[in-house]
Amino acid sequence: MTTQNVNTDWLNKQSRLLIISGPCSAESESQMVDTALKLKAISNVDILRAGIWKPRTRPNSFEGVGAVGLPWVAKAKSLTGLPATVEVAKASHVELCLEHNIDILWIGARTTVNPFAVQEIAEALKGVDIPVLVKNPINPDLALWIGGIERFEKVGIQTIGAIHRGFSNHGEKFYRNRPQWHLALEFRRLRPDIKLINDPSHICGRRDILQEVSQKAMDLNFDGLMIESHIDPDNAWSDAKQQITPEELAQLLDNLVLRVGHEEHDSTQSKLDYHRQEIDHIDTEIMHLLGNRMNVARQIGSYKEEHNMPIFSPKRWNIIRRQCQELGSKNQLSKQFIEMYLNSIHTESINQQEKIYRSKRG
Ligand code: PEP
Ligand code: MN
Repeated sequence: MTTQNVNTDWLNKQSRLLIISGPCSAESESQMVDTALKLKAISNVDILRAGIWKPRTRPNSFEGVGAVGLPWVAKAKSLTGLPATVEVAKASHVELCLEHNIDILWIGARTTVNPFAVQEIAEALKGVDIPVLVKNPINPDLALWIGGIERFEKVGIQTIGAIHRGFSNHGEKFYRNRPQWHLALEFRRLRPDIKLINDPSHICGRRDILQEVSQKAMDLNFDGLMIESHIDPDNAWSDAKQQITPEELAQLLDNLVLRVGHEEHDSTQSKLDYHRQEIDHIDTEIMHLLGNRMNVARQIGSYKEEHNMPIFSPKRWNIIRRQCQELGSKNQLSKQFIEMYLNSIHTESINQQEKIYRSKRG
């Protein structure tokens, strides 16, 4: 069995937060080395990250420098003494990473969705002992995430971590990928043995909310953070809006309040706490969704105002009521509750649209 020369103590650490950082993509030797040296000098980063092959949503975007970047990562490793992790999406990536002594592999969200790809990577790792970090799939499918991890367990990978990077959602505006924290908590409940790392960069897609999302991960007892950093983030070739400088990373980490207290309750009480946390996260999601719904209602209001249409359309209202009653009963919600919910949501939507009509009247 080939054993990569990496210290995997971090996975057994109970007390300390694991920090993974580095650029979204390796772009040049100097960008990689300068970012790594700065990170090493001013932050307590444990592992360097770099994307070499980039799975991009649209063609004609920068798709990574490819294998030519691996020696740059190797150089950054040797200059800092830090281990490095690289994303792999197929067997050939695995071979190249092993050739260049990459210490840890990570599976990206667009790969975890595909069991064929995950299986191919797992098989390429048969007989190799290297830690693997598995990001959640882009869709909120917990079984698929856990299934990906199981594929690596089945080929004998000893050290596996999970990365929560949020879930893609059409129409989402606030986050790049909605965190859906309750899914990460459910992951934790089902696989308490696997270290769970949060990736605020891909959840946020922007810098201004990185701190609060990282703090939330601390409050929920995540084991680590993967945060993208770049020596010159504004000019990054991928994910420029969400990357931060090593200095900003150091500041963010410094501002974090670590939750190191211990559970004092008996196990019944901690189960109750767990369910309360679940409720809080679901409520957060509901408020967020209601905000999105009203945002769309205001856009409809502007359209109707411009086309001189009345706000209220009984025909449309009946369709909504029928749909929601049907969905509500499938979800074990009482008819009376759906009735009350629909009436209050409709009133709020009309009030918001009326406000637009009033402002246009001046
Ligand atoms: C990345 O980490 O740069 C990346 C591509 O992430 P994800 O797979 O979470 O989209
Ligand atoms: Mn990225």
